[in-house]
Amino acid sequence: MKEISDIRKDFPILSRKVYDKPLVYFDNGATTQKPRCVIDTVDEVLTTYNSNIHRGIHALSDKASEEYEKAREEVRAFINAGKTEEIVFTSGTTGSINAVAFSFGERYIGRDDEIIVSNLEHHANIVPWQMMCERKNAKLRVIPINDNGEVLFDEYLKLLSKKTKLVAITQASNALGTILPVKEIIRAAHSMNIPVLVDGAQGIQHGIVDVSDLDADFYVFSGHKIYGPTGIGVLYGKEKWLTEMPPYQGGGDMVENVTFEKTTYNVLPFKFEAGTMNFPAAIGLAAALRYVTLIGRENIRERENELLQYATSRLLQIDGLKIYGNIEDKISIISFLLKDIHMYDTGMILDKLGVAVRTGTHCAQPVMDRFGISGTVRVSMCFYNTKEEIDVLAAGIEKVKSMFA
Ligand code: PLP
Repeated sequence: MKEISDIRKDFPILSRKVYDKPLVYFDNGATTQKPRCVIDTVDEVLTTYNSNIHRGIHALSDKASEEYEKAREEVRAFINAGKTEEIVFTSGTTGSINAVAFSFGERYIGRDDEIIVSNLEHHANIVPWQMMCERKNAKLRVIPINDNGEVLFDEYLKLLSKKTKLVAITQASNALGTILPVKEIIRAAHSMNIPVLVDGAQGIQHGIVDVSDLDADFYVFSGHKIYGPTGIGVLYGKEKWLTEMPPYQGGGDMVENVTFEKTTYNVLPFKFEAGTMNFPAAIGLAAALRYVTLIGRENIRERENELLQYATSRLLQIDGLKIYGNIEDKISIISFLLKDIHMYDTGMILDKLGVAVRTGTHCAQPVMDRFGISGTVRVSMCFYNTKEEIDVLAAGIEKVKSMFA
């Protein structure tokens, strides 16, 4: 693995100051910073071959289309999908889940059917299903979690029934860090011929994805959470499903033939890509995936585990600090509260010290409700963070405490 000092040089923003203090960026669960190669790639698209894809016969359009399709192939290889036809570009995880909720819902869901989610889901993997249930008079069922933030597998098995039409589950909780036993969840669902959508928004960032090994029916993620640009996301779907599902948006490029009497649709994956796609971001995403591959996904996991262990032991030494989500198998996220100190006070003081953490529900209000709290302070680390930064965080938390003592 590259030296950490060299890795940090790859990310221009990491050398900036905030309130005259070196930036300590611990909000990677919300969005990650971008390496120079991603910034340069998007810049190169816009300065040298910007042109609408799949539309023109001129040189610029050819080049843009070629790079966009190359990006699709790189995404396919990265997540180990079988075919490029199974890779649909979207605006992000939210866009991908809404697409499936609408399209799968239209095709397969009827009155009294059930969709299973877990208590750990981000709002993006709850609300689109609720909207679909409202449209179709279907029901949302929820797998409960225990006090450590783990899903109760036996309860999940009890929820599976003939009425279940889909399981939609996150690979890792953005609120607590819990890694879910997704493979086992999928295996149990498949034993009853029920498809599974995996929300990979957090999982992908920490290098844990192989859709073929998982046997996921759908796998979705956002470019901006894996060091790529915002405004681009991926919907992987098994060919069988994507073929049977109707398009969820109509417009240019998703059609084969249009007349006022009847329109026929384009082949996969274009059937699901209506209008001008965010091709500079898709090409930028491919650059991000190449960067992650260069650093090494195993190296990333190892380094982030080390940071998680170090940060957990440092934070647990702080009197009055309680961590939510206490299992071994976690991504590098720590959610905590300080006794008698409001999370926003903690977050605001840390900010003044140059430390960026997230405070609130993390768009996972049901998780907070489960613990009877209104939110937490979340530290989300990634491989470019350092133990020294964790020391700055720990000292900052001590300072917060002393200010409220
Ligand atoms: N799912 C999970 C687990 C997330 O952590 C997030 C974002 O934090 C999302 C979905 C939504 O991602 P986006 O806002 O990029 O669509």
